[in-house]
Amino acid sequence: MEYDRILIRFGEISTKGRNRHQFIEQLRKNIQTKLSDYKKITIHKTRDRIYLKLNGESHEEIINGLKGIFGIQSFSLAMKVESEINLIKAGALAAYQQLENKGITFKISAKRSDKTFPLNTNELNYELGSHLLKNIEGLKVDVHNPDVNIKVEVRKGVTYITCKDIPGAGGLPVGISGKAMLMLSGGLDSPVAGFLSMKRGLEIEAVHFYSPPYTSERSRQKVVDLAQELTEFSGSIKLHIVPFTEIQQVIQQQIPENYTLISTRRLMLKIADEIRKLNNGLAIATGESLGQVASQTLESMFVINEVTSTPMIRPLISTDKTEIIEIARKINTYDISIRPFEDCCTIFTPASPKTKPKLDRVKYYESFTDFEGLIADAIKNTEVLYLNHTGQYVDDDNLF
Ligand code: ATP
Ligand code: MG
Repeated sequence: MEYDRILIRFGEISTKGRNRHQFIEQLRKNIQTKLSDYKKITIHKTRDRIYLKLNGESHEEIINGLKGIFGIQSFSLAMKVESEINLIKAGALAAYQQLENKGITFKISAKRSDKTFPLNTNELNYELGSHLLKNIEGLKVDVHNPDVNIKVEVRKGVTYITCKDIPGAGGLPVGISGKAMLMLSGGLDSPVAGFLSMKRGLEIEAVHFYSPPYTSERSRQKVVDLAQELTEFSGSIKLHIVPFTEIQQVIQQQIPENYTLISTRRLMLKIADEIRKLNNGLAIATGESLGQVASQTLESMFVINEVTSTPMIRPLISTDKTEIIEIARKINTYDISIRPFEDCCTIFTPASPKTKPKLDRVKYYESFTDFEGLIADAIKNTEVLYLNHTGQYVDDDNLF
């Protein structure tokens, strides 16, 4: 007898009432996309669980894949046997023996939804516990704090046996909360902001501004690699790479030095918002946090944000750098983010940017230049990459 399926529990989804079906269906789709390389597995929804039947696929890689899927509270390797006491005994023993880290104490937690089954839960706990003690030397029962809790769920006709709950990523299934454009730089913060947005069920499309030749191919590649890393949680990601050199040069020429940073940000946001409209997004996510740098004072945010009324999502607004780094390490973006690179903003950053810019000032400075044509050009020349877990591929369809 072998583990033949994985039982997936969804926690928070279960509380969502009317939207429940939608949640479960989205989660099922996300699981299917993520595990599409494993051709033999089949996915089954029930009212309160999802089952993966392994059909001969090995479970190790599948378990790793499941860990990155939002909406999963926990999951367990499971074995299905007929609801017959001798088969259940053999199943419980086999399930325990196939565990990797067994420890030395265990308990049986039987549950009987089929009340016609001849043994009640106490009798089941006793029968199965004795069977394991008889067959495994050195094993001890600990009902309060066991190393392994063997859960046995007796239903009509079939019984499910599981031994270990593996924690899932939590959150909500990606896609259930709508779509946001993630402003993705090569830094530490924005990939983490993307991760946290996805955790709340948002689908993300990334927008990156680059300024060749001031920024190199390496820094472009860095952003592609970061977006690629985020596909671990989304299955796939669409990355818009916006040529920004010309706009930055015009800003340098037309805007007083201490306002160039603010103007740059305003134009980035404006373009990101146009790309959002073309792609039916409903929000813009950034890696901004409060008070880190000149562009992230509340006064600056007020002036930058004036270009759009689209909802802004700033998952990092109240996080410290150490917390951000901790998440970046966990989601494997840290090592990519710390690669040396040229950021299109830092290159043009003035010596003393305004930390308390005035809206009427910046609007006045910008009024001498026709940015609309430049914005339209940047959008027209935006390169679109579709990334998924297998690597990067470009869609031939020209979207614009
Ligand atoms: P990060 O670590 O994400 O680069 P940061 O702390 O360096 O953030 P800023 O440089 O002020 O802060 O950028 C604030 C946010 O603006 C970024 O988190 C990102 O969302 C967006 N942003 C900055 N530069 C770019 C860029 N070149 N392309 C797209 N978005 C950008
Ligand atoms: Mg940055």
